[in-house]
Amino acid sequence: MILPCKPMGPIPQGFAATGGQLAIGGLSVRDLIAQAGGAPLFVYDAGLIGQKIAAFRANLPGVALHYAVKANPFAPLLAFMATKVDGFDIASAGELARLQAAGVAGARIGFAGPGKRDADLAMAIAAGVTLHIESAREADRALDAGGRAGIAPRLAIRVNPDFELGGAGMRMGGGARPFGIDAEAVPALARRLVAAGADWQGFHVYGGSQSLDAGAIVAAQAATLDLVARLAEAAGVGVPICNLGGGFGIPYFAGQPPLDLAAVGSGLGEALARRAPVLKETRFVIELGRWLVGEAGVYLAEIVDRKTSRGETFLVIDGGLHHQLAASGNFGSVIRRNYPCAVATRFDAAADDVAHVVGCLCTPLDRLGDSLALPHAEPGDVIALFGAGAYGASASPSAFLGHGPARELLVGLG
Ligand SMILES: *Cc1c(COP(=O)(O)O)cnc(C)c1O
Repeated sequence: MILPCKPMGPIPQGFAATGGQLAIGGLSVRDLIAQAGGAPLFVYDAGLIGQKIAAFRANLPGVALHYAVKANPFAPLLAFMATKVDGFDIASAGELARLQAAGVAGARIGFAGPGKRDADLAMAIAAGVTLHIESAREADRALDAGGRAGIAPRLAIRVNPDFELGGAGMRMGGGARPFGIDAEAVPALARRLVAAGADWQGFHVYGGSQSLDAGAIVAAQAATLDLVARLAEAAGVGVPICNLGGGFGIPYFAGQPPLDLAAVGSGLGEALARRAPVLKETRFVIELGRWLVGEAGVYLAEIVDRKTSRGETFLVIDGGLHHQLAASGNFGSVIRRNYPCAVATRFDAAADDVAHVVGCLCTPLDRLGDSLALPHAEPGDVIALFGAGAYGASASPSAFLGHGPARELLVGLG
């Protein structure tokens, strides 16, 4: 008897079968696992990331593209990104060190995030990084750090807007927030920074993350343009750079459509065409993490056991939530839903089985697929979880239960 299955998210485009196996960047999963020295393994396809970047350029011409390192800080991926995007956004001194190791100049980097310590500020100022100021106290500490170093610090203000990004999976603006400076307090602070001799850069407004609603993104961008123009006029300062945030999402679950990038591009284009005179010379930036890299990553793990409990089948893999927490529903989800999943070693076979995919951790939280319709799979087969390129390896508790971290591989450099 086949039990009822539960839906899973759509497998992203760009993945095909070779000889029955899933291929990533032209290599079969068996070859990839051999090349990496074993599973579990994250594989990132640079070719698919390149296609995303090309689509951004085609649909949002003239807008600078930054990569948010938080989404995936894998060193080879940063080196690849350094050749493709205009700049980077970081949220820690550790991320700055990773970019410096990849040879990225500080002038291409913006540093946002609450709780920057004095050592973080000093390191960023010495490197010529733009600090996105998150509080009045942080502004004073950044000016002091610049004074000690004899450098006019590059400063921008991160604004906590009076609106939030609609349809966002994670809201980070509007209301009371730990992020940014409340819009109403911004003009006085901007004047103060300029008067104190900072190398004034402009404004950064980040409303949220993981939105699939082009209309909501455009509305937030248009509101940002209005807000930044009002703040600049009230402060009597220019706006060299306006970081419009990002928040472009990707489909993870059944029924989620992809973001309509053409609609974002035309909507933003119209909003920019009617922007206020104070923004005529401004350079506009969009910062993206998940949308650029999320769908290009696949998590691969081998089935160790296949067992039946009271009529239900469990495929036990050698990985789990310690590598890919988000697929277990424990990273920012309210209800657990199935990420796209496949038996990678039987990628072109029809689904004739219903099984749960569970990790090797001794906790009921470690369920990566619930009642999935899959081809019959046995120990030694490889499970693929898609949508693993962002907030995967670096956003999972890899020390939990002592199994160790997953391997990572960047392919498709062409
Ligand atoms: C997390 C974050 C990003 C990246 O978000 P994505 O959803 O991965 O695109 C960009 N900017 C800031 C300020 C962030 O906190």
